[in-house]
Amino acid sequence: MYDVVIVGGGPAGLTAATYVRRAGKSVLVIEKDGFGGQIAWSPRVENFPGFVSISGAELGDRFLQQAMEQGAEVELEEVSEITGTVGDRTVKCLSGAEFKARTVIIAAGAKPRMLGLSGEEALVGNGVCFCAVCDGIFYKDKPVAVAGGGNSALQDAMLLSEKCSKVYLIHRRDSFRGESKLVEALRKKDNVEFILNSAINALNGDTELRSLLLRTPEGERELQVSGLFVAVGHKPDIAAFSPLMALDDGGYADSDESCTTMSPDIFAAGDCRRKKVHQLTTAVADGAAAALAACEYIDSL
Ligand code: NAP
Repeated sequence: MYDVVIVGGGPAGLTAATYVRRAGKSVLVIEKDGFGGQIAWSPRVENFPGFVSISGAELGDRFLQQAMEQGAEVELEEVSEITGTVGDRTVKCLSGAEFKARTVIIAAGAKPRMLGLSGEEALVGNGVCFCAVCDGIFYKDKPVAVAGGGNSALQDAMLLSEKCSKVYLIHRRDSFRGESKLVEALRKKDNVEFILNSAINALNGDTELRSLLLRTPEGERELQVSGLFVAVGHKPDIAAFSPLMALDDGGYADSDESCTTMSPDIFAAGDCRRKKVHQLTTAVADGAAAALAACEYIDSL
């Protein structure tokens, strides 16, 4: 039996693993896709203390390396369910694998949100994309659009402006949620056009995206683009664990500052937890808090 099983190998989960090991307890981190989490898809991280500039993939690798050097065990599996009683949990995976745990930290992050337009799902991979780092290269020298106004949208637009003939940055408001430094850098790019106070009303194209229909303050506008990079935030994917912890209307885990949920042996950390600021720095802070709370709980048993 592990002292702590962590669901999710992003910044929160891997930081938690390092802290658990430093407290002398056993820990297993289970990740379904790739260690590093969402940040692994960020081309450049410039707001994580200690690094002036580092690629998200390298930062994610460093989190993993640090946790493993401390003795954390890792598995690539998709967790489907957590059963058992307080202090004696079984973490079940889709493959059939099962792991016993005294405590569980859910650090499962969040998955990209879609715009909710007709035909959007069918066009995923054929024009509609969620990751400029992964898919930008397929739109080399072609016109593309980015939807969103946060750091992800700004970073995607910056990366795509170096590959694509034209980048339309479509945002529903007149100001951006993301960093103004990135906005200023984008304003200086000749091939980037801001389309503000605007919404995408429809996607045209059956098997491949051909154009977007926009509602702009000046009226309807059709944009001929080969790709649309949707960067309108993320939503947590933790509904399967809701019997163990309360979720709010947005699907985020309800937990206190120590990341403790309504079950004393279940903790929620990082982007899947309800909090005001979802950032890399607050994810690692959650990882530390959840790990220390889990260790304290184990010591109290
Ligand atoms: P975000 O900051 O939540 O931004 C989402 C954007 O999408 C907002 O501008 C929002 O508009 C817009 N939006 C939401 N729903 C929409 C809809 N249905 N239609 C059109 N637009 C919609 O998400 P994010 O950019 O993915 O970033 C997530 C977190 O990761 C943030 O805290 C961010 O700072 C962080 N991050 C950090 C780095 C880094 O380098 N350190 C890189 C990427 C992301 P409104 O503004 O009008 O709400």
